[in-house]
Amino acid sequence: MKRPRLRQIKPLLTPIDTRTVKPFNTRSYKARLQADPSLKFYSTAAWQQFRSAVIAERGRRCETCSATPDTVYLDHIEELRDGGAPLDRSNVQVLCGSCHQKKSIRARMVRFGLV
Ligand SMILES: [Zn+2]
Repeated sequence: MKRPRLRQIKPLLTPIDTRTVKPFNTRSYKARLQADPSLKFYSTAAWQQFRSAVIAERGRRCETCSATPDTVYLDHIEELRDGGAPLDRSNVQVLCGSCHQKKSIRARMVRFGLV
């Protein structure tokens, strides 16, 4: 006896995004690069070497909360787009993802005069 075939029924409703504040960094790299040409700096060999050297010296520990995640960020204390020195050891800190995100959002709010 032949079994009846099951068909996928197309949903009648499609989900919509009702969020008024869109999630952080959802644009493509190309779109973000267009909005902020200083992003290109992060793919240079000079930055990659500097980043590796500083993280090796200081260890993979967040300088804000002391977490030791697998992935750490070398953060510019004064951001490049705010005129911070790109390869100055006194202008960088090792941060975990959470602290880096919080710090970046805060810097953005200050830049746009929201705080
Ligand atoms: Zn942290």
